[in-house]
Amino acid sequence: MLEIKDLHATIAGKQILNGLSLSVNAGEVHAIMGPNGAGKSTLSYVLGGRPGYEVTGGSVTFMGQDLLEMEPHERAAAGLFLGFQYPVEIPGVSNVQFLREALNAQRSARNEALHSAGDFLKLAREKAALLGLDMEMLKRHVNVGFSGGEKKRAEMVQMGILDPRLAILDETDSGLDIDALRVVGDGINAIMRQPDKSVLLITHYQRLLDYVKPDFVHILSQGRIVKTGDAELAKHLEAEGYDAVMAA
Ligand code: ADP
Ligand code: MG
Ligand code: MG
Repeated sequence: MLEIKDLHATIAGKQILNGLSLSVNAGEVHAIMGPNGAGKSTLSYVLGGRPGYEVTGGSVTFMGQDLLEMEPHERAAAGLFLGFQYPVEIPGVSNVQFLREALNAQRSARNEALHSAGDFLKLAREKAALLGLDMEMLKRHVNVGFSGGEKKRAEMVQMGILDPRLAILDETDSGLDIDALRVVGDGINAIMRQPDKSVLLITHYQRLLDYVKPDFVHILSQGRIVKTGDAELAKHLEAEGYDAVMAA
């Protein structure tokens, strides 16, 4: 699914990723944890193709294609989904309009038939129901006036509708109360826990991993993965802190 080899990247001339290697197979959930400033968000931006991030070495293959050669919209059309800590607000555009545009843009790039308004509403209802969410929320403007929890619910519906192969979720759990955390955890499990899908869960804290059990936990420090383990590693981190676990 995703093969990152010896990735080096800079932002504003500053070296942030320093020989990062990671291999994610279909059906796996990988958690990436690490101290502030380790390069976690940089990794997700580089994988998403955000402007300003320069890859200075290494390679990334996504479903057999050279990811770094692809435009951001091509990455999305190929099945890459990025969720962020701070979702944008889009006044004047409803979630339903936004999601249909996004889905149709991807379908068009894959030469697939577009969804009519009617078809799309049916799909949106289905996904909202799967996640136990109120359809009325999707008629509101994108994230405008949404609480932190509502933004996350909307993001889970977005993920359900776009139906990606690989979801990269960067601190999607930050600032969530326990109910919202459960919605996000259930959403990830319902949508992404499938044999042909994978998740990269970037998180500072262990608590989301109580809901979404990772197959692998990696510690990212100073731009590279310094330790890999299973779900137990995240518990050690929570109990002992990064410095102690990295020194062990
Ligand atoms: P994390 O998500 O692990 O907290 P980031 O990837 O956000 O870490 O940041 C890694 C390092 O890159 C930090 O030292 C941060 O200050 C630096 N950095 C991030 N964005 C920029 C930028 N636009 N210009 C300069 N340095 C940046
Ligand atoms: Mg940070
Ligand atoms: Mg970050």
